[in-house]
Amino acid sequence: MARIFCVANQKGGVGKTTTSVNLAAGLAKLGQRVLLVDLDPQGNATMGAGINKAELKASIYEVLLGMSDVKTVRIHSETGRFDVLPANRELAGAEVEMVELDNREKRLKDALADVDGEYDFMLIDCPPALSMLTLNGLCAANGVIIPMQCEYYALEGLSDLVNTIKKVHAKLNPDLKIIGLLRVMFDTRMTLSQQVSSQLEQHFGDKVFRTIIPRNVRLAEAPSYGMPGVNFDPSSKGAQAYIAFGAEMVARIKTL
Ligand code: ATP
Ligand code: MG
Repeated sequence: MARIFCVANQKGGVGKTTTSVNLAAGLAKLGQRVLLVDLDPQGNATMGAGINKAELKASIYEVLLGMSDVKTVRIHSETGRFDVLPANRELAGAEVEMVELDNREKRLKDALADVDGEYDFMLIDCPPALSMLTLNGLCAANGVIIPMQCEYYALEGLSDLVNTIKKVHAKLNPDLKIIGLLRVMFDTRMTLSQQVSSQLEQHFGDKVFRTIIPRNVRLAEAPSYGMPGVNFDPSSKGAQAYIAFGAEMVARIKTL
């Protein structure tokens, strides 16, 4: 049975996609079978895995609306060595169109059940909103990984996200839990980063991953080559951190 994790944070630009793509590639390096699910109409995870979102025959949109299935739509990422359920801007329409459908929060969950035995991990890259798409991600997942930057405003939105996760846990998906908070784009030279980081540890304890992802330009450059950072420049500090995070995840799921 695959472990399914959402990478979610309703704040924009906090490193969700970078985390999804690089964790997928890091886990693949460790021999894990991974499906990366792009649940964002921006299609950044698709592009970051080296798949051209403008040339898709079909995407997750058709899967959510029941016009196709995961087995037909998935594509293998050569640069990441994992499979991708790709997305593009068409997906924005699903938000509205799903409202009319039965079981609208669980469309992704039902679709992924089809390939459950084929993967060790499924990682869902969520859009920057607490929308119907994100709700589908949360209903499909066993857990949530929350990437966050250690800056003052990072903590502000966190309670909204935590409350949403609690509600989904109570009403729709009893399996759901927060796996952990991942500190990303970390700048060791900034006192504020250190302060927010220790506040997070005090408040959330074990729910804060040990691995810290540094700010590293190689991670930001990699998507323009259609490659996950961990394969674009494996020796860079950013790549090393995501590989370490992959190992931490593999160890952590054994304790769940
Ligand atoms: P959105 O909310 O729009 O989906 P996101 O949360 O998925 O954004 P990313 O796209 O992963 O965030 O990252 C935002 C920007 O920060 C990107 O340009 C990315 O390349 C850059 N970035 C992410 N992580 C790092 C890092 N550790 N070091 C340097 N740059 C980074
Ligand atoms: Mg993104």
